[in-house]
Amino acid sequence: MHVLLVEDDSVLADGLSRILQGHGMLVEVVGDGLQADQALQRGQFAVAVLDIGLPGIDGFEVVRRLRARGSATPVLLLTARDAVEDRVRGLETGADDYLVKPFATAELVARIRALARRNTPAPTVLALGQLSLDTSARRARIGERPLELSVREWAVLEYLLQHASRVVSKQQIIDAILPWGDDLTLNAVEVYVSRLRLKLLDAGIAIRTIRGFGYMLEPAA
Ligand code: CA
Repeated sequence: MHVLLVEDDSVLADGLSRILQGHGMLVEVVGDGLQADQALQRGQFAVAVLDIGLPGIDGFEVVRRLRARGSATPVLLLTARDAVEDRVRGLETGADDYLVKPFATAELVARIRALARRNTPAPTVLALGQLSLDTSARRARIGERPLELSVREWAVLEYLLQHASRVVSKQQIIDAILPWGDDLTLNAVEVYVSRLRLKLLDAGIAIRTIRGFGYMLEPAA
């Protein structure tokens, strides 16, 4: 796990760096805000641990620039004791967590691990038959051919794929896509499923109707 540690107190930085390395982390240490900004542009870090009070640009500005670039790198801020406003401002700026100095190193290690875990993407490609759904890129394909899906068709198909070879009810489908589904009826689910069937004719999969209950997505017979 590659960790960026930004701390201008070199004694503290050395100590923390050694501890993190002792826990199997690969640590890059920088001592000011501009170097931190550059390191974050250059490298991929599992987590950035960022002191707020830094020479050059401060920790807030480093986070602001990071998020302005669209980066999702998790950031753990190190704040001074009693600086409640700093913590609020840090979180509002886009930091993910903070730790108040002085802190137990075991807690630092645990927080870094938790942030890294949270940022580990789940497997993003769902596939069955010739169909594949890349859920992070929002791309569907049958074989090599791109498949056009509406937002709701996508949501229904994704849910069916996640539950392939299991029976799901129409209500379960509605519940799963509810963020868009405020006006969604059981009939609407039937409409999406029939559209999907047409689009999936040559995908080597079938959406079977389980009469009186719902559907099951499975490889075509
Ligand atoms: Ca400092």
